[in-house]
Amino acid sequence: MKAPQLFKTDAGRTIYSFPVRSFDTLINNIYVIDDGNDLILVDCGSGMPQTNDDLSAGFAALSETFGRALSLGDITTILITHGHIDHFGGLNYVRQHTDAPIGVHILDRRVLSNHEERVVFAYRRLETFLESAGVSAEQRERLMSVYLFAKTYYRSTPVQFLLEEGRPTVGGIEVYHVPGHCPGQVCLRVDDMMLTADHVLARITPHQAPESITHHMGLSHYLDSLVKLQQVVGDIRLGLGGHEDPNEDIRARIDAIRSAHNDRLAKVMDICREPKSIAEISRDLFGRVETYHVLLALEEAGAHVEYLHQRGELVAANLSEIEQISHPVVRYVRA
Ligand SMILES: [Zn+2]
Ligand SMILES: [Zn+2]
Repeated sequence: MKAPQLFKTDAGRTIYSFPVRSFDTLINNIYVIDDGNDLILVDCGSGMPQTNDDLSAGFAALSETFGRALSLGDITTILITHGHIDHFGGLNYVRQHTDAPIGVHILDRRVLSNHEERVVFAYRRLETFLESAGVSAEQRERLMSVYLFAKTYYRSTPVQFLLEEGRPTVGGIEVYHVPGHCPGQVCLRVDDMMLTADHVLARITPHQAPESITHHMGLSHYLDSLVKLQQVVGDIRLGLGGHEDPNEDIRARIDAIRSAHNDRLAKVMDICREPKSIAEISRDLFGRVETYHVLLALEEAGAHVEYLHQRGELVAANLSEIEQISHPVVRYVRA
């Protein structure tokens, strides 16, 4: 894994960064903001045993590399950028080392503090989505068990304060609420640097899921939030994402992400010259994919179909069937 990095903001604050392996192929960036008073941890990995080891090893590596002796026990505040398990799942482990208050946006609070309930509700909505997408019962069961995996080890943890746009948080860090990838997704401005979390990543286009599964997600919200961030990053020198490398030109990166979504929307319109279910559209877009990626591909396709359906570009091709039977598969066609 990569060596830890150190960034200096124009106001003299230090942001340390190091990677942790959250799941098989997923690497998350952990950030530690140090201004001499506060020591702020931003995100904490998935909570898998390997990830927790990486988290502690990352702090040890900061001492070795930069000569600043730091440990999890020195953390004074914990900020969670959004309610995805690879960003907050390590809270149980972090809590063993520090009582530092935890802050998150209000729309992701219950994911951290009432996780068991949230998973059950999301599970039911996901099931409905997969049914109407035309996923077979057998495959649905496989996909749902993958989805429920996080429930097996994360225990709900109380949140002590909220991250709110327009109200700077600890250390005067500015908060921008950018829903879409996640309901409570925030970007955090630290002087001339922007922690873009999973809203803007350097290489991949952040994952999208339909808002029919979770409110405040979906492509409409996401694209609005890209515009919003683009308007406030004019003087930002560096973007620091939740995954992958730093971003030297956030505006250009946002343009590239938007055009990738526009291309995908155009592809969906093309695919839907004939009536297609979301499962079929997903296969046409992404080909055959494996395990967890099947679910990601279905959600991504679903988000794009939903966007076009909301706008009347796509319509249901089998309306009477949808009207007459319960749990119908919806087939979409160009209007
Ligand atoms: Zn995420
Ligand atoms: Zn992530």
